[in-house]
Amino acid sequence: MYEDISITQITVKDLRFPTSLQHDGSDAMHTNPDYSCAYVLLETNNNQKGYGLTFTLGKGTEVVTCCIKAMEGLIVGRKVKDIFEHFGNFWRTLTSDSQMRWIGPEKGVIHLATAAIINALWDLWARLEGKPVWKLLVDLPPEKLVSVIDFRYITDVITREEAIQMLKNREEGKANREKELLENGYPAYTTQVGWIGYSTDKVKSLCKEYLNKGFTAFKIKVGQNLEEDRKRCAMVRECIGDTNVLMVDANQVWDVNEAIEWMKNLAEFKPLWIEEPTSPDDILGHATIAKELKNYNIGVATGEMCCNRVMFKQLLQAKAIEYCQIDSARIGGINEILAVYLMAEKLKVKVCPHAGGIGLCEMVQHLQFWDFISLSGSKEGKYIEYVDQQHEHFKVPVVIQSAAYIPPLEPGYSVEIFPDTMRKHEFPNGEIWKNIRTS
Ligand SMILES: [Mg+2]
Repeated sequence: MYEDISITQITVKDLRFPTSLQHDGSDAMHTNPDYSCAYVLLETNNNQKGYGLTFTLGKGTEVVTCCIKAMEGLIVGRKVKDIFEHFGNFWRTLTSDSQMRWIGPEKGVIHLATAAIINALWDLWARLEGKPVWKLLVDLPPEKLVSVIDFRYITDVITREEAIQMLKNREEGKANREKELLENGYPAYTTQVGWIGYSTDKVKSLCKEYLNKGFTAFKIKVGQNLEEDRKRCAMVRECIGDTNVLMVDANQVWDVNEAIEWMKNLAEFKPLWIEEPTSPDDILGHATIAKELKNYNIGVATGEMCCNRVMFKQLLQAKAIEYCQIDSARIGGINEILAVYLMAEKLKVKVCPHAGGIGLCEMVQHLQFWDFISLSGSKEGKYIEYVDQQHEHFKVPVVIQSAAYIPPLEPGYSVEIFPDTMRKHEFPNGEIWKNIRTS
């Protein structure tokens, strides 16, 4: 298949959305984000296209686009057959260029660039197959699926053979789970109610709005001021009641001991988890926090800024997280994220993906659907994050019904942005940004 199809061009755009004007997306660490992305468009000699992105917060997106351009030579001119038949090898080629690897390796801006390119390649592959990415993943035989993963650095926790066996063990019931998922979807929780820059009244009215929409799990931002956090948690708990789920997210602002003490002070509000309590690189710190907070029935969650599969491996090995929050636009795209899912399944840690931003809900749902159908076989105690922003810019936006993600049926990774949005939001010369500069 695709014998004569090759990649002829890679284009990258710096797209930014002025979300800071309304404090949408604000948290204790990122007080004024402008949700943005480095957006990749792959073109082929048969007019097929692939779209992908990595998420950013405004300034610095130009650095990511520059990095993607620097990787152009590794992609343009390649036959797609050579990429998709040996995707694991190609992934290593992309992450192991002998000169560019120095500016990572497998972390930071260059790995964000890798994620955007890899996401675009999966979108292209799924379009060529005429399937949504989740279905492409579900239909790949275990050996083929596992072949896309680079197992270097993780074989002490999981081997290729074990991964194949885990998938084979779960083959029974796949068709039923797929059918069930298409009917009922996958549970979502909302982060829409509690950005840190929102007023008390706004938080209150949003809680009511999302309760009415059927949501049972709500996440709010904490970490700037303990007294304010206590007031806010009490208020949200009162709004959502005792039986619904509350999660809190500190976005990395605390030291380890500070995180423990702060969370002891919020324990009475019964949060399910504390997300990103400290530096995303501090594996042993997370383990200490997790151990201390276990006594208070508070789990530790992190992953949205975890830089690669090696860090995830250690977080899982150290029992530092109860909830593993993979992100669709970080680490090295789907190939590497699949490795994290497999390690989490083996070490019995729940994956509850990070989403929101630009296109993160659109993309990550595919991965969690695959996990349910093909790997973990369970939705028990798991959710996909949901933020109700920027979906209108996507041709295949997420569909949420009764607080559940409903699987898309359109081919691809649901990440194609309307041309009109690209024109208006391109930084710095798109209409939106010109108007902001002159107003
Ligand atoms: Mg978070």
